[in-house]
Amino acid sequence: MKNEIIFNLLKVHQRIENACKTSGRNPADVQLLLATKTVPADRIRIAIEAGETLMGENKMQELRDKDSELKHLPIERHFIGHLQTNKVKDVLKYVSCIQSLDRLNLAEELNKQLLNQNRKLDVFVQVNTSYEESKFGLEPSTVLDFIKKIKSYETLNIKGLMTIGLLDVEKEKMIPSLRLLRTIRDEIYKEGIEGLQDLKLSMGMSQDLELAIAEGSNMVRIGTSIFGNRFLGKEIWNENITE
Ligand SMILES: *Cc1c(COP(=O)(O)O)cnc(C)c1O
Repeated sequence: MKNEIIFNLLKVHQRIENACKTSGRNPADVQLLLATKTVPADRIRIAIEAGETLMGENKMQELRDKDSELKHLPIERHFIGHLQTNKVKDVLKYVSCIQSLDRLNLAEELNKQLLNQNRKLDVFVQVNTSYEESKFGLEPSTVLDFIKKIKSYETLNIKGLMTIGLLDVEKEKMIPSLRLLRTIRDEIYKEGIEGLQDLKLSMGMSQDLELAIAEGSNMVRIGTSIFGNRFLGKEIWNENITE
């Protein structure tokens, strides 16, 4: 198990490097985040001991269950799943960043809890760039307005935009939803809003890592290619599965 994870990590880093080379980008501008839903803590630990520093969970329950084994390790934990407002307080115990900020009442609740705790939090605004109904995220045309609104919350550090691209066997079908995230970012840049001149793009998964890097990704979120297939019978991009 250990060797397999380490070998897979090497392969993923190689893929990132190759993709950067192909698109003339600096590998230092692309971070790897371990997508660890359903992955037991002992496996995650192997990746951390191999030098990984970023992980993302989709569910509050999993953050809690794995916390005792992971909290002393040098790993930054992000939340990348759909976040229900009533779970904000709990999730904040474990993470330093929420990548799935997708609505105003969630921003309000985060702000409220963060003010109570006298702290700030990194956030990515999640955009539904594939226009799939099954996916969470803001409708692309509403992102600029949304960002202008949440900018007034000083508790939120807006780090960038996140999307789950359209997955397909055909490459040509996967590119537009990745490219769109960059277009939206560039449109935000054009507004020249102070504090919003360096936004990162969190996009790219096991299947579309190379394409995402070619489209400007700064953070790829990889699960399957590192930890193997998840045996759930059902895919969980979101929290539609009840806890
Ligand atoms: C599961 C998940 C990933 C990783 O997907 P893989 O195909 O396993 O690499 C990335 N982002 C989010 C939001 C996820 O839920």
